[in-house]
Amino acid sequence: MSDDSFRVLVVEERGGKRSVGLHDVRVADLPPGEVLVRVAYSTLNYKDGLAVTGKGKILRTNPMVPGIDFAGTVVESASPAYQPGDEVILTGWGVGERHWGGFSQMNRVKADWLVPLPAGLSLRRAMAIGTAGFTAMLCVQALERHGLGPTEREVVVTGAAGGVGSVAVALLARAGYNVVAATGRPAEADYLRGLGASAVIERAFFTNAGRALEGERWAAAVDTVGGPTLGGIFRSMAYQGVVAACGNAGGVEFTASVFPFILRGVRLVGVESVLVPPAERRVAWARIARDLPGALIDQMTEVIPLDAVPAYSETITNAQVRGRIVVDVNA
Ligand code: NDP
Repeated sequence: MSDDSFRVLVVEERGGKRSVGLHDVRVADLPPGEVLVRVAYSTLNYKDGLAVTGKGKILRTNPMVPGIDFAGTVVESASPAYQPGDEVILTGWGVGERHWGGFSQMNRVKADWLVPLPAGLSLRRAMAIGTAGFTAMLCVQALERHGLGPTEREVVVTGAAGGVGSVAVALLARAGYNVVAATGRPAEADYLRGLGASAVIERAFFTNAGRALEGERWAAAVDTVGGPTLGGIFRSMAYQGVVAACGNAGGVEFTASVFPFILRGVRLVGVESVLVPPAERRVAWARIARDLPGALIDQMTEVIPLDAVPAYSETITNAQVRGRIVVDVNA
């Protein structure tokens, strides 16, 4: 990268043809904004996979730089909130969807969109958490806000070997819960136990035929899969159990009996991470930095260069990625 030019991954659709490739651009090409950031790392989330492959309508402008999150160092700031040299994190706000994304060595954004890197996290580990891990933290907080407290009962995480799932397993286990990991990849059982799961079950547990109410098992659930999996979770929720739903990797529609809701008082809480207010973001990131040891974060992380993003986008949308993929935009 010269002083002024830098590398970005661009997705472009022209004349019905879609292209994905690396380009050199200049700082003057960046959109206006208050804070210029030299990006160190981005990540590959499920949504990025959909955006890069075109399997989902994620990108709202054309051409577009995808990448829904990044971490880096402030170069220039028109906001008193940030000074050159500050290390910052960005997730959400439509970055990588309608605004210039994280698959770029530089970016310029609103100051309000940034969160200062919390003490105890490196830029690389912050992105190993990334949008997926931040969402997992929001799920844990939502469960606790809606009544999950110390319990002997199990807490289940679906899509456990994926990004949100891996971090949710680790966070819940560190918080002292008895975590069961539901996965379609039984070969990842040792990995999931290493993150703190006390048991691993087949994802089919939730989609097999069953009665409207089964035995009470789960005190809480983090569901990253949606669709029929989410519909199946309610059957074995314990009295006043709470489900945090954040994902749709397995479908967008579900049907469920009302009995778990009206006979057991089961609660369903939606979790979204894009527009979460800045103050809540700082609280969530501080708890991530406090609760997750670096070595545990490293266990779930693979680092790839920017030019590997297209291939890994296929992999993540085929549910073959384990844990979190960090993108080193300077490699
Ligand atoms: P990953 O691809 O890393 O993980 C998804 C996991 O879901 C897979 O690893 C797999 O887990 C499971 N899965 C995938 N396809 C199916 C299927 N057809 N049926 C059952 N299980 C399936 O994605 P992320 O962790 O990045 O994201 C997970 C979900 O959360 C996505 O839908 C994403 O869009 C959503 N999300 C939502 C956010 C929000 O703000 N609400 C923010 C971030 C993510 P396994 O192999 O273990 O079964």
